[in-house]
Amino acid sequence: MTQTEDRTLSTEDTPLVPIEKIVSLCKRRGFVYPNSEIYGGVSGIYDFGPLGVELRNNIRRYWWWSMVQINDNVVGIEGAIITHPRVWEASGHVENFVDRLVECKNCKRRFRIDHLPAENLAQNKCPVCGGELTEPRTFNLMMETYLGVVEGERMKTYLRGEACQNIYLDYDNVLKSSRLQIPFGICQIGKAFRNEVTPGNFLFRQREFEQWDLQFFVHPSEMEKWFDYWKEYRFEWYKGIINHKDRLRFREHAQDELAHYAKQAFDIEYRSILGWQEWEGIHWRQDWDLSRHSEYSGQDLSYTDPETKERYIPWIVETSGGVDRTFLNLLLDAYEEEPPSGKDKEGRTVLHLHPWLAPVKVAVLPLQKNKEELVTTARDIYNRLKRLMVSQYDDVANIGRRYRRQDEIGTPFCVTVDFQTLEDSTVTVRERDGMTQIRLAIDALPAYLLERVMWR
Ligand code: ATP
Repeated sequence: MTQTEDRTLSTEDTPLVPIEKIVSLCKRRGFVYPNSEIYGGVSGIYDFGPLGVELRNNIRRYWWWSMVQINDNVVGIEGAIITHPRVWEASGHVENFVDRLVECKNCKRRFRIDHLPAENLAQNKCPVCGGELTEPRTFNLMMETYLGVVEGERMKTYLRGEACQNIYLDYDNVLKSSRLQIPFGICQIGKAFRNEVTPGNFLFRQREFEQWDLQFFVHPSEMEKWFDYWKEYRFEWYKGIINHKDRLRFREHAQDELAHYAKQAFDIEYRSILGWQEWEGIHWRQDWDLSRHSEYSGQDLSYTDPETKERYIPWIVETSGGVDRTFLNLLLDAYEEEPPSGKDKEGRTVLHLHPWLAPVKVAVLPLQKNKEELVTTARDIYNRLKRLMVSQYDDVANIGRRYRRQDEIGTPFCVTVDFQTLEDSTVTVRERDGMTQIRLAIDALPAYLLERVMWR
């Protein structure tokens, strides 16, 4: 199991960051842009800019490393977004993947019934303005699309509403093409699409988003053991990448929230300005998925134990979370506006992102732009480092401003080339969080930085 170092940086009473601050930083510094902005945008759909793509890739790669690469009994797949339409009948999505929605007759705001506080639901009262709510209406969230070109022969299908279905579809192929035996897991990261009735809160609820899933196949007698194992594993994983450890908790689903096949389900929740909200779900799926796909496809998806010859439909532990929600929660967790202090007289905005995940790992800065030797040395160092990790070279503006620019995007290290460098081939390495500085030989830089920015 991965153990990340303890990085509790802030205290419990650090104020929760308003979403608008993150939206603004993301746009200004190139993390996230509204999709099709020049046409007025599309609600609930976003594009990722140069820094956003680096952060996303790091988040995905770290998940993959900790789930697939270091667990011998877990493998990965990448399934297509479009599948046979029968998949969604078998999964129950065509019939049941619905949200029930009410609208306030006064302020016209819309609410999902399952997100309304109980008293507002009971009194039929808008939680924002107190106005009367409409009767609930039901909406299916699946996004339809069509395969084929000839009118009348086109087949209606769906963009996948949850990525995990591919894992059940490929389960038998994975089993037959690998040497895996139960218990084993299949992981996937992939896009999912939902016609959310209340998209909003930036990346929190989108219509196109990315999910990561583990489906872990077990003998029914071992279900409880593996459920507990993955539940703890995933909690520790999230704990390892945030600073505010006290903002993470489990929420057990109440009996009336559970699917009929589930004995237990837990959400891992994070507390932000949006309140306590689901970050990932740990689900007891029993034999539901493979049984349904066996039934609907006519293919027997049962497993024969190679030793005991027992034949059974494996039970499944699912851990299902979101790349985009992780992206947003990490920014909400990492963002801090530090007031002026002895160390920084102007104050600064800083992203305390884990160095493993930070989009840029190091910035190389010549102290002055107009001293050719400083610039040449800094460029040489930058050219060496950029082959090893995402690096930036910056010689625009005074050194204080350049540090602040890097702090704001979460760059964990700045390397400054100054006049002493020209004498003894050492540089200053400044660390983002504590703003501490050390002197290091240029040749020692790659190993020093790699040790701190590579996960292990
Ligand atoms: P909710 O109750 O918030 O609609 P859900 O229980 O339907 O979520 P799941 O279907 O279990 O969510 O999806 C697994 C994960 O995918 C969630 O924990 C979340 O991280 C992510 N996710 C789900 N819906 C969205 C969305 N619309 N936008 C961004 N991420 C999402």
